[in-house]
Amino acid sequence: MANIRVLSPDVAAKIAAGEVVERPASVVKELVENALDAGVKTIRVETQQGGKRLIRVLDDGCGVATDEVPLAFARHATSKLSSIEDLNQVMTLGFRGEALASIAAVSKVTFVSRPLHQDAATRLCIEGGQEVAYGLAGAPTGTMISVENLFYNVPARLKFLKAEATETGHIYRVVAHYALAYPQVRFSLHSDGRQAFQSNGSGQLFDALVSVLGLEMARQMLEVGNSNSGLSDDEIENQLSNLKNSSVYGYTSMPAMHRGTRDQLIFFVNKRWIQDRSLSQAVIQAYHTFLPVERYPVAVINIDLDPSEVDVNVHPTKAEVKFQDSRLIFRQVQQAIREVVTTTAPIATYQGQPMNNAGRSWGGGGASFSSQFGQEVQRTAPYEEETLLTDLPIMRVIGQIQQMYIITEGADGLYLIDQHAAHERVLYEKLTAQKAKAAVIRQQLLEPTVVELTPGQAAIVEAELDALNEVGFEIEPFGGFTYRLRAMPDILGQAEPGQAFIDIIAEMVDGAVPLAKEVHEKIAMTVCKRGAIKGGQILSLEEMRELVRQLETATAPRTCPHGRPTMIHLSLGELARQFGRM
Ligand code: ADP
Ligand code: MG
Repeated sequence: MANIRVLSPDVAAKIAAGEVVERPASVVKELVENALDAGVKTIRVETQQGGKRLIRVLDDGCGVATDEVPLAFARHATSKLSSIEDLNQVMTLGFRGEALASIAAVSKVTFVSRPLHQDAATRLCIEGGQEVAYGLAGAPTGTMISVENLFYNVPARLKFLKAEATETGHIYRVVAHYALAYPQVRFSLHSDGRQAFQSNGSGQLFDALVSVLGLEMARQMLEVGNSNSGLSDDEIENQLSNLKNSSVYGYTSMPAMHRGTRDQLIFFVNKRWIQDRSLSQAVIQAYHTFLPVERYPVAVINIDLDPSEVDVNVHPTKAEVKFQDSRLIFRQVQQAIREVVTTTAPIATYQGQPMNNAGRSWGGGGASFSSQFGQEVQRTAPYEEETLLTDLPIMRVIGQIQQMYIITEGADGLYLIDQHAAHERVLYEKLTAQKAKAAVIRQQLLEPTVVELTPGQAAIVEAELDALNEVGFEIEPFGGFTYRLRAMPDILGQAEPGQAFIDIIAEMVDGAVPLAKEVHEKIAMTVCKRGAIKGGQILSLEEMRELVRQLETATAPRTCPHGRPTMIHLSLGELARQFGRM
């Protein structure tokens, strides 16, 4: 090994820069953060060739005074913090004074800045950390910084940059996410001369959401943390005291909208965009039983709390934070989301038609059709005013089609109900309620049944004996791979006990191995699935009425326990539109 040497300042600077600047999007992030800290109304980002050739950020913020401009590029020079205690109170996005120095070490930077009180702007050019020009220039108030030829002097980094489109995608994410955190700031992104993104700066998070997700998707988002959620005053009071000084608000997707990845779970802590696996988990768990397996919600969640309760200085690019009480934050996020998801999860509606707030006013028969219809036509349905169904309307069963779907009529139109999914939901809630009271109802078998399992099935039974007993089975080993079944869950109804048991175990063997704590849940769902009416089963009018009546009183009637919709709604408005009546 060679002797130990102190690195030359030039090499040391480039290595240090690597911590902060990994790719063009990290430059954009730092520059946008600086602009936001400068109290801007507008931020314009321009890039060429995925930011490799050029990144330029223009803002209308407070600017930097002439004599301070060179300082801004000195390492560990910042206007945002002066003592170590200040770290406890950081409300700015920057605080280390590293970004500009780092960026300037690995590119060619031009910085032009004018505070309001100066007549002229200052212009400073730095190449690879060396000042090459410094003087006055004409410019509007605010700051313009351009970063050219990123990593031109760090070939190792340059080599690792991805295709332009990939880098542009990362830049887009940075700009779009900050637009969500700062709805009051007007953002635009232009890549290679084309406008790639724009937000309107109205101050409304929903508007920012529309600019990022598009109107169609934004309309499928539910507001989180709006205390108007049907809680009593006492409950609200209780929640507020739980929240201490923090608050959780934003938007989260309706269960009908989901994605194959979790990268649309976006979190801001005191308006800082952060990644946090545990918070993602909190959101995902809040959708438990509402989403199909391996599907994830979309959420934009703000967590505002006292800066002393969070350490922002734990990560090189400040992309992670450490909460003083991370379990409390986890619970608050999960509760806030769970609440909107359970109380406002809407029915899947034909052609994405907005929901109607039907209430329980329907008087039966078709008598009120025309007056209801009149209301429908007048409804202009602007998305801000929309109220989502919290209850199902009282429904009248019309009939069954395909031995699979029940057709019903409610005050607000037609419903197609999937008989199997609906029954699964009803049974699942029944079983959950019984489990909660530790009073699961069993059917004692007159004659114990002996079942013979495969080695794989026996292993599952062996491992999950407790969970199986908890849902209402009574099983005991009977030598080898055979077991004796003495009782089965009541919700399995008329099923042949041995066969039902084997089916449930087989389903568990097939299914992905769940996490230990989810096993009980999974068994409960599997039992309900087995117990539920199947597709292909003809139902009498009486049976259909009974099922619909039970569904009406379910707490989450709109999805089956696996998260698929139980029903499709065709509103009167939609019918009128389809028939050209409006
Ligand atoms: P930090 O943001 O951690 O303070 P930076 O290296 O990013 O460190 O910036 C150094 C200083 O330059 C900031 O503290 C700020 O005073 C000033 N500055 C940088 N960008 C801007 C801007 N767009 N508008 C006003 N001041 C800026
Ligand atoms: Mg900064």
